[in-house]
Amino acid sequence: MADLIDDWRKKRENYKKENLKYVKKLKKHSGKALDNFASELDEAVFKNIDCLDCAGCCNGLPAMVNKTDTLRISKKLGLNVSEFEQVYLQEDEDGDTVFKNSPCVFLLEDNKCSIYEFRPKACREYPHTAKDFSKNLHYHGTNTMHCPATFHILARIKKSLPI
Ligand code: SF4
Ligand code: SF4
Repeated sequence: MADLIDDWRKKRENYKKENLKYVKKLKKHSGKALDNFASELDEAVFKNIDCLDCAGCCNGLPAMVNKTDTLRISKKLGLNVSEFEQVYLQEDEDGDTVFKNSPCVFLLEDNKCSIYEFRPKACREYPHTAKDFSKNLHYHGTNTMHCPATFHILARIKKSLPI
């Protein structure tokens, strides 16, 4: 299980530029066929990567938190919305509302999420490779630096679709 993660750690920096460039070119192949292919690869890669061995996203990328997430999580934590916003949320440089802390304050020592059942939508959908791959194309290049699954999914796409 750890092999794909080790492999990613060794290679991610060397492939950074190539991956960012490739994702830009992949734009012209956006669409249903690419989404279906990415979804198949997502399933195959995640059979060999256990997120509990990684937690790269929870450690390195402050998750986006939408209004519905805010209502749900604040209620579960027993806080009112403004208290929750004040303690946990901030606006990032793109104007998105995200968790303040990175690593995430809800990440436990064993890489589990202490609010797993009611975590933000963005956490549930990350790394956006199981569906809507094309719609999230602009994220995938950068995500290869944070997420071993994205790195290996993109590597397999590159092999099948040299552009
Ligand atoms: S809320 Fe949970 S899943 Fe989301 S970043 Fe924090 S620890 Fe990770
Ligand atoms: S970075 Fe990717 S592989 Fe690692 S925990 Fe997050 S989704 Fe799973």
